[in-house]
Amino acid sequence: MNFYIDIFTLTNVSTTFYSILLVLLFLFWNQNKDIKSIIWWCGFPLFRIINSIISSDSVYYDNEVWIYLGNLSIIISDVLLMIGCLKFSNLKINYYYIAALISLFSIISTMQFNMHALLNSRIQSIVLFDTIIIIISIYALSKLETDKYCLEKFFTIFWMSIQFIVFAIWMVDDFKIINVQDVYLYDLGLSAIYLSHIFILVGLIILAIAKRRNQLIAENIIFEELEKTLTITLTNAQIANEEKANFLTNMSHVLRTPLNAIIGFSESLKLEFYGTLNIKQTDYANNINEGGQLLLKLITDLLNLSNIEDGKVEITLEEINLNHLINKTKPLLNEIISHSNVSLIINNKLNEDCIFPCALVDQIRTKQILINFVSNAVKYGNKNGTITVELNDFDQDYFRISVQDEGVGIAQDQYENIFKPFNRAGSEKTNIEGIGVGLSIAKNLVEQMHGSIGFSSKIDVGSVFWINIPKSKQRNFSLI
Ligand code: ADP
Repeated sequence: MNFYIDIFTLTNVSTTFYSILLVLLFLFWNQNKDIKSIIWWCGFPLFRIINSIISSDSVYYDNEVWIYLGNLSIIISDVLLMIGCLKFSNLKINYYYIAALISLFSIISTMQFNMHALLNSRIQSIVLFDTIIIIISIYALSKLETDKYCLEKFFTIFWMSIQFIVFAIWMVDDFKIINVQDVYLYDLGLSAIYLSHIFILVGLIILAIAKRRNQLIAENIIFEELEKTLTITLTNAQIANEEKANFLTNMSHVLRTPLNAIIGFSESLKLEFYGTLNIKQTDYANNINEGGQLLLKLITDLLNLSNIEDGKVEITLEEINLNHLINKTKPLLNEIISHSNVSLIINNKLNEDCIFPCALVDQIRTKQILINFVSNAVKYGNKNGTITVELNDFDQDYFRISVQDEGVGIAQDQYENIFKPFNRAGSEKTNIEGIGVGLSIAKNLVEQMHGSIGFSSKIDVGSVFWINIPKSKQRNFSLI
C-alpha cells in the first residue's frame, strides 16, 4: 500500500494537540500548584509549539539560524520533560549537569552551523542528546511506586519507549534513512515520534491526576485516623465528665447531711434551746453557723455549675411580669444586705403599660442571677455605699436588669477572666470569700434563656453588672 504522510500537516495537527494538552496541563497546575513537576512539564509542549513556529518560519525565510534555534527548542522541551519526571519521582536533580548538557548541545550546533552541516548530521546530534534525556526520563518514571501509579506509569513509559525505539532504529541504520530517497520511512518514524509526544502528554496529565488522587487518599487516611483518635478522646472526656458529675453529686450529698446537722445544731445553740450561753459560747456558735452556711453555699454553687455544664439544669421559659419578679425578690435582696451597712435602691424604669407578662425567662434562674449580682455588690462594693438595682426597657427585644455598686472596680487586665469558672479575677489575693463560679453560672443561665450578660467597671468608682433578658412576643403583640 502506498501512502504519503504530509510532514507539514503532521506538524500542524500535533501542534494543535500540544496546545490543547498544554492548556489542560496548565489548568491542572493552576488548581494543584503543590505538584511542582506539572509546571516543568508545561515546558515540554510549549517548546514543541515554539519549535513548530520556528520551523515554519525557516521554511518561509530559508534562514538556517531558525533551524538551529528550532533544534535547540526541541532539546529544551525534552529537558523540561525530564526535569518534571525527576521532580515527580522525588529524585535529586543536579542542575549543573543539565546546564552542561544544554551547553554542549549548543556548542555542537554552533559548530555544525558554521560548518554548514548536512541535515543528516544535525539530526544525529539531536537524536543522540534526546536519547540520553529520554533514558533519564524513563528511569525517573520507573522509580514511581507501581501500586500507586501502575497504569499511568507504564502508559507514559510505553510512549517514551516508542520514541526511543525510533531513534534506536535510526541509529542502527546509521541515519541512512534520512539521506536516502526513502522519505516515506523517515516520515513514518517522525509520525511515530509526534504520536508518542501526544500520548506522553496524555500520560503526564494522568500521572498528575494520579498524584492528586493518591494525596487525597493519604489525606483521607490521616483524617480517618484523626477522627478515630478524636472519637476516643471525646468518649474518654465524656466518661471523665460523667465521673466528675457523679463524684460531685455524691460528695455534695455526703457533705450536705453532716453540714445541715452542724448548721441546725449551731442554730439551736444560738437560739439557746438547750440553755443559756455565755458571750464566748454565743460567739463560737455564731462562727460555727456562719462557717457552715458558707460551706453549704460553696457546695451548692459547685454542684450548680457542674449540673449546668452537663446540661442537667432545666430551664423553664415562661412569660413573667418583671415588676412582679422584682417585688418578689426584694425581701431576699434586703436579707442579703441586712448583714452589711450598704443601702439598696431599686430603680424601676419599666414602662407603666407593662402589666402583661413581659419577659420570657425562667423566674427562679433570673432571681438566682440577681441575687448573685447583689451578693457580689455587697462583697466587692463599698461597705457603706449604695447598691442600685435598675430595670429598664433596653431595646425592642430585651429588658435590662443591672446592679451597680460603688466598690473598688475591676482592673482592665481582668476583664476577660470575669466569667471564667473558678477564676477570681484577682480577688483570691484578698480575704473576701468565694470560689469564682457565681458569674460563670449566671452567664450560662442567661445564655440558656437566650439573653446576654456583661459589665462595665471603673477602678475606685464601682462596677455595673447587667443581664439583657428577652421580651415575650405576646407583650409586643399586645402593644400593637
Ligand atoms: P466569687 O465572688 O465567688 O469570686 P464570682 O463568679 O461571683 O465569684 O465573681 C468572679 C470574680 O469577679 C470575683 O472574684 C471578683 O474578682 C469579680 N467581681 C464580681 N463581681 C464584682 C463586683 N461587683 N465588683 C468587683 N469585682 C467583682
